[in-house]
Amino acid sequence: MPEPVVIEGAGEMQARARELARTGKSIGFVPTMGALHAGHMSLIERARRENDVVVVSIYVNPSQFGPDEDYSRYPRPFEADKALCAAAGVDYIFAPKTLYAEDVRTWVTVGGLEDKLEGLSRPGHFRGVATVVTKLLSIVRPDRAYFGRKDAQQLLIIQVLTRDLDLGCQIVPCETAREPDGLAMSSRNSYLTPSERRQALAIHRALEYCRTQVKLGELDAMKLLGGMGDILSQQPDLEVDYIAIVDADTLEDLRAVQGDVLVAIAAKVGKTRLIDNIRFEEVA
Ligand code: AMP
Repeated sequence: MPEPVVIEGAGEMQARARELARTGKSIGFVPTMGALHAGHMSLIERARRENDVVVVSIYVNPSQFGPDEDYSRYPRPFEADKALCAAAGVDYIFAPKTLYAEDVRTWVTVGGLEDKLEGLSRPGHFRGVATVVTKLLSIVRPDRAYFGRKDAQQLLIIQVLTRDLDLGCQIVPCETAREPDGLAMSSRNSYLTPSERRQALAIHRALEYCRTQVKLGELDAMKLLGGMGDILSQQPDLEVDYIAIVDADTLEDLRAVQGDVLVAIAAKVGKTRLIDNIRFEEVA
């Protein structure tokens, strides 16, 4: 496989993307913060299958991290990421040093969705995400952009902003890739000690408990939340941030599993904050 071309300048990336579009090539885009794992690779492989050209961005976006979060220690194994991209047939890696002017004054916010779930625990997080994704989509101008369902709220916000701002790009949701035992893959899993890694699995177990109960006909949100809470509370180093059963489009709390539903969990295992979710579609 030829090496991907690494581009650091936003202007250069934009010019290259325009050139590719002029020659009629479709562009598939996978935005990431690097430390690539099989979850990212599943997005990249899909982009590879569905487009003429694949662009992966690797940028640890400072504006989506809170002051007490892990921005400075977030893993940045660029050479390993580049090798994975090469093996997957990526054409371009967009790896800007920064995307913000010092006097940046324009921010993108998506009304009604940013102050729920993740947004409550991470104020400003989605303003950072929405802004960087808008910038990246304006630079790369892809035909399709690929996002994971693991970050369900992020995916929803990006779908809404792409529509509201007429960005003319198809947002392609991709299923959550998991470790063989079910733990959702995440760049942050590398922070976990062996004991924390075992305890983290309770997040997946709680979601699977919920899935099973719903299949058996239990639709009452309070009961399902209670059962999931019991599973999580058995782990000594796991601290629940939220367990939520919400409408998949509005993120409003539901009393019962009905329609399109997102069941989401965020928890700190030791010092590492993890999220995961499952969806139910068109529950009658
Ligand atoms: P990140 O590097 O964490 O910003 O993630 C980049 C993209 O990969 C986002 O669209 C994530 O939702 C997606 N992603 C992260 N983890 C997974 C996973 N386990 N399965 C599928 N997609 C994922």
